Amino acid sequence: MDTCRAAVITEHNKPLTIQQVPIPELDPGSLLIKITASTLCGTDVHRWHGPLGSSDSLPIITGHEPCGTVEEIAGARTDILGQPVKCGDRVVWSYVACGSCYYCTVACQPCICPGRASWGHNRSDQHPYLLGSCAEYMYVPKECLIIKVPAEVSSASAAAAACAYRTVMHGFDRLGAIKSHESVVIQGSGPLGNFATAVAKDHGAKNVLVIGAPANRLEVTKKMGADAVLNLEEVTDEKARRQWVKDYTGGRGADVVIQVANNMAVPEGLTLLRDGGRFLNIGAGGKATIAVERVPQQMLFITIRSGEPRHWLQAIEFLASRRKDFPFEEMISRSYKLDEINDAMQAMASYSVVKAVINL
Ligand SMILES: [Zn+2]
Ligand SMILES: [Zn+2]
Repeated sequence: MDTCRAAVITEHNKPLTIQQVPIPELDPGSLLIKITASTLCGTDVHRWHGPLGSSDSLPIITGHEPCGTVEEIAGARTDILGQPVKCGDRVVWSYVACGSCYYCTVACQPCICPGRASWGHNRSDQHPYLLGSCAEYMYVPKECLIIKVPAEVSSASAAAAACAYRTVMHGFDRLGAIKSHESVVIQGSGPLGNFATAVAKDHGAKNVLVIGAPANRLEVTKKMGADAVLNLEEVTDEKARRQWVKDYTGGRGADVVIQVANNMAVPEGLTLLRDGGRFLNIGAGGKATIAVERVPQQMLFITIRSGEPRHWLQAIEFLASRRKDFPFEEMISRSYKLDEINDAMQAMASYSVVKAVINL
């Protein structure tokens, strides 16, 4: 059996090792992808520090944000738009829902299908081995929808679209239209927050106000179109932050608050929202007991998980069509080789980069 190199978590909190992992035989309809770029995500770091669920067992090939070129296809395949997929095409691909449970068929909410398949948490010593993106190759099950990446989108940005950016697109999908008089507050200045800043501006918000840290991330936030940013490390008083938002919103609070930090930010976020506003809760990390003094009246609280296949397409289209409006490449702070995986994970863990990419 052929093998390829992959960055494997063998023990939590210990350095990852580069191992030879088997390349599986392809089942009908499945693909083998040669990875060109894998961006790292906060989730990869959390999972490296410890298991994220009862199904996490080691060894795991880290990474779930891949972009790559088609190396081999078992039979004929079409992409999400019905076009033939060929060897050499540069692509990203969706997660898989079971298609036959209550959530998939009746509720039409495939993101919460209990039988969902996703990447970066599967055992690398069990078939089909290659389900993590920090590897030379990945196996793509036949159920995945394929999205072609246009030439004007870099592999690194396309890889980030395979998780961070498509999650943001899903959030805006559920949020609905943003009106031209509305103010949006974004809590968080990581990859999700910075991409959400661009999308909120693009969707016509009157102003986009971002609360985040550290300063290097907020510099990128400004380039992504934020009208004003507030550094959490400098303004440590919650009341002062609330006043800052009030000053921009006629004393009412924001029409929309988007939380892309973690659940600990929810109580403060609710105090930044006007009565009747919409709260979009994306950042799901942090097991906070969420104590809230007052819930805004008539508000909408929206939570989302992951994305549906069309959100992968929406994110890729946004990167391609808005590339002159927003400097997306600024969000990819540093690139690393596969051998440098531990440096890249450390950089993500210390927030010294917005997003790290492993180039293969
Ligand atoms: Zn991710
Ligand atoms: Zn299902």
